[in-house]
Amino acid sequence: MPITICFRIFTSMSNTNKKALKFKPENREQLHLLPPSLNDYVSENHLVRLIESIVNEVDCSVIEAKYSDFGQKSYSPTLLLKLWIYSYCIGIYSGRKIASKCETDTAYMFLACRYQPDFRTINDFRKDNISFFNELFVSVLKVCNELGMANVGTIAVDGTMIRANASSRRTKDKEGYEKWKTNIEKTIETLHKEADKIIAEENKKYGNKRGDELDKKIVSKMKLKDKIEKILKKYDEEKIDAKKKINLTDEDAKLIKSKGRIEANYNCQGGTNMDGVLVGQYITNVASDKEELLPMVEQVEINTDEKLKIVLADSGYASYDSYEKIDQKNIIVYMPDQEYENSKKNADEIHPFDPCKFKFNIETNSFICPQGKELPFKRRCINLKRKQDSAVYTCKDCPSCVFREQCTKGKYRSIYKETRDNLREQARNRLDSLEGKVIYQKRMQTIEPIWGNIKFNKNFKMFSLRGIEKVTGEFSLVSIANNISKIYNTIFCKMAS
Ligand code: SF4
Repeated sequence: MPITICFRIFTSMSNTNKKALKFKPENREQLHLLPPSLNDYVSENHLVRLIESIVNEVDCSVIEAKYSDFGQKSYSPTLLLKLWIYSYCIGIYSGRKIASKCETDTAYMFLACRYQPDFRTINDFRKDNISFFNELFVSVLKVCNELGMANVGTIAVDGTMIRANASSRRTKDKEGYEKWKTNIEKTIETLHKEADKIIAEENKKYGNKRGDELDKKIVSKMKLKDKIEKILKKYDEEKIDAKKKINLTDEDAKLIKSKGRIEANYNCQGGTNMDGVLVGQYITNVASDKEELLPMVEQVEINTDEKLKIVLADSGYASYDSYEKIDQKNIIVYMPDQEYENSKKNADEIHPFDPCKFKFNIETNSFICPQGKELPFKRRCINLKRKQDSAVYTCKDCPSCVFREQCTKGKYRSIYKETRDNLREQARNRLDSLEGKVIYQKRMQTIEPIWGNIKFNKNFKMFSLRGIEKVTGEFSLVSIANNISKIYNTIFCKMAS
């Protein structure tokens, strides 16, 4: 053997020995002495273990009853439920992604017991059992209660807009749909003519193409036309106001302004206790929060079987009706009204003739305007739409006032004082107190971080499902994931460590 070859073998052997000393061997053929257990796939304090133990305690008989006793065995509902809950906890909302994770991710393998369910099975499970998630939300709340995390003496209420699974451009009124239908019909006619031409010219003009590409376009436009016709029929049959806008893809979604953009949204309502656990949640497609305080309070009391003592809400919920109904339930509310918030702005930002600049004199039962003129009581005014019963105070000196144009659009300036103004005044005084300032701060520290976590950390910015019923179920799943993550971060991690 030539000496150079001997030298090469020697150096390569010494390199291999050196590597063996430094690094662990890369041997993919190595067999295990004992087969690995699924329990070895995840650490002792992994989130999936908490999900596993919570779901094992949940009564899933309603879902189980839907499965037939005959035929091929199905995946257990609890297995699929665990997969969905874990996915919403870590920000995965697609059945396809979950199916792929079941093949590659040990946490998913643990939950799925190494089965690899098809993405359609996973998606269908969420779609078919959507109402069960509302019940599951309450069951998880009971677990929070057992752990001492569902105390609801005080709750903070807030709403956030989350996009519907629909394009805002597909939201139109009746006239819009009629125009759209006419355009579609014209397009279909043109496409038909083109298709005829292609057949007549025996595809010469279009080379290798078979000409059936246009057929597909026609079919898709025909489907769109059918959908539009269905909506137009609905306008007539249900006598819907022609000006009312309906979204073609998701009829329940509404065009709601959020952060300066008008989009097809749902208004997600949440109520949280001071531990950051969502104790109430639901979906509405009404843009305003004004009517939402009482339904949330009632839902929280039912969910937790406890009586609320204090409610914190922002000015979006403020209305005389809300103040009155919450007061009737003997609950203390910390909720500024819009005018209160205006009065807290810098003096330069407030309009010089804003209602907060008019001072009420209880003895004379009149207001005094910024120019020192009196506005005596004039009449009562009942506004059924706004559910307000007000006393109207009108100034007689306006025609001769140099500030009249800045102060009022009419001839005389009037101030409306609602009969339940004392309740609003009480809420204002509470907010102005030192104790009130401390308590109200907690609203920002509890509910707002939850929205931040859901929308930005977990990237849940759009619903996967359509229609208010399914969207409500999906939002329950989002809320369950929030509460389980809360249990995990505050208790389970500490216990495990
Ligand atoms: S317009 Fe009438 S209410 Fe307004 S500042 Fe003048 S006098 Fe007062």
